[in-house]
Amino acid sequence: MAQLVDIRILQREYLLAISRALTAELDLHDVLRIILQSSVELVSGRAGLIALRDAKTETLRVAAVYGIPVNLVDHFAPLLRDLPNDLDSAEQEAELTRRLQKIGRDASMGLTQMVRLPMISGEQAVGVVYVFLAGSAYYLPQDVKMLLRSFAEQAAIAVRNARLYQQVNQEKQRLDAIIEQSADGVMILDQALRITVFNQALSRMTGRPSPSVIGHHHDEIFQWRPLKTAMDLQGALANGWPLPGAAHLYVEGDLLRPYQENDPTMEGNLISLGITYAPLMDSDGRMTDIIANVRDLTRYREEESLQKTFISVVSHELKTPVSIIKGYAGTLRRQDANWSPEIVEDSLSVIEEEADNLNDLIDSLLEVSRLQAGTFNLEMSDDVFLPEIATNVTRKFSSQAKNHRFILKFDEDFPLVVGDERRLTQVLNNLVSNALKYAPDGGSIVISGQVHPQHVTISVRDSGIGISDHQQHRIFQKFARLDNALSRKAEGTGLGLYLSKAIVEAHHGRIWFHNNPDGPGATFTFSLPRD
Ligand code: ADP
Repeated sequence: MAQLVDIRILQREYLLAISRALTAELDLHDVLRIILQSSVELVSGRAGLIALRDAKTETLRVAAVYGIPVNLVDHFAPLLRDLPNDLDSAEQEAELTRRLQKIGRDASMGLTQMVRLPMISGEQAVGVVYVFLAGSAYYLPQDVKMLLRSFAEQAAIAVRNARLYQQVNQEKQRLDAIIEQSADGVMILDQALRITVFNQALSRMTGRPSPSVIGHHHDEIFQWRPLKTAMDLQGALANGWPLPGAAHLYVEGDLLRPYQENDPTMEGNLISLGITYAPLMDSDGRMTDIIANVRDLTRYREEESLQKTFISVVSHELKTPVSIIKGYAGTLRRQDANWSPEIVEDSLSVIEEEADNLNDLIDSLLEVSRLQAGTFNLEMSDDVFLPEIATNVTRKFSSQAKNHRFILKFDEDFPLVVGDERRLTQVLNNLVSNALKYAPDGGSIVISGQVHPQHVTISVRDSGIGISDHQQHRIFQKFARLDNALSRKAEGTGLGLYLSKAIVEAHHGRIWFHNNPDGPGATFTFSLPRD
């Protein structure tokens, strides 16, 4: 065994190596191995072992070994069992020696002596360091024991650091996951307004994957067209934001989504965003980061503009029949005129027709409010015969369809289906009335019915203006009136297709449309299950 002076020099070197390892952020097990090797070499030992206490199971588990072949590590298990509580220190010593002798025999490693050093962190025993010696037993000077104890302390510090680091890391991962999974858009900016965090919800909203924006300046990504609030982030910063007490900044505006290959409908799509910026301050009151919550207001804005259109459309639609009725009624009432029976008859039928129009409109509005309130019920019967409904609908419209020609083409043996006859009539009424409205130059309107094993389909084909690609996604929306010359001229509320879709879906069917591939116009089709 080395002289004490040499040991001191050695110890200094070892302590240096250990503290280097502690600060070099090595893996905990690497640090423990360096400490263990230093301890064993310091006393010219044969082997060593460090076991850590598992906080959950309260048992010791091997964390590092030195000089013990892997296949022999299991033999050391007896040293990991706690000593009985009621033993005094001499008895503990004797018990440990007994265990070591047995291990020495089982593992044939010729171990004769050991030093057991508890690793204490704060009040807690976090583990134990064993140093094993071989050869004839000798007395370890007190100084050497002290040196070994200082190594065990270093090991305990390393364990505590590693556990703190792990805790902080876990907490960080948890926070990252919360931000990442948050249903609202979340973004974090550094002092220079560069984006450091951009969560999934925000990526979906803006159509920009997070790697494509991280590190970019806020203004590069958020280019408002237009800005709807008085100030954007830069403007607010220039005005001294954040002021104490008024920390949050709200900015609203429209943003252009970039074109995405897998989602071509998004090209040139504007989204409305509302962003609340909150500054994060350090203890000196300096802003370190800005955390921004981003909400997608697009649907809300769309609804708002739809409501506006709705009010103007509905008031127009209500006013027209009312003024026609009033005009005819006023004319008929004139005392000075002596109207022929034909004129009276004609006028009364116009009044009746317009009253029916009013009634239809009020019915549609009631249906929409029932749909919204969830009290939309079907009156089902099991003998709905769609070819007959189609015939009735064409009969009803034939007086208005001077330039149009109706063609009915139903498969033979068209089956009876289960459904609400009145409402299915309403769907066909609406499709046929659109076919007439949006094909003002006339042409044929083909109403056909096909029978399939599980379902039937009904199609209404016109040869009108068709539906432009970029407006197709809106057509079934409530109050949707597409922007074309005819929608502006033709009467309508934009409720027909919305209600038709609701009715068909309440029957567990589907409704769709396409522009005719072999000519002008569009075909609307709905399916109904046969059962
Ligand atoms: P509206 O009362 O305006 O007709 P709908 O809900 O029935 O309401 O239709 C919504 C919009 O879809 C219409 O304003 C029109 O622009 C378009 N549309 C519906 N049917 C057709 C069709 N057969 N051909 C072309 N455009 C149509």
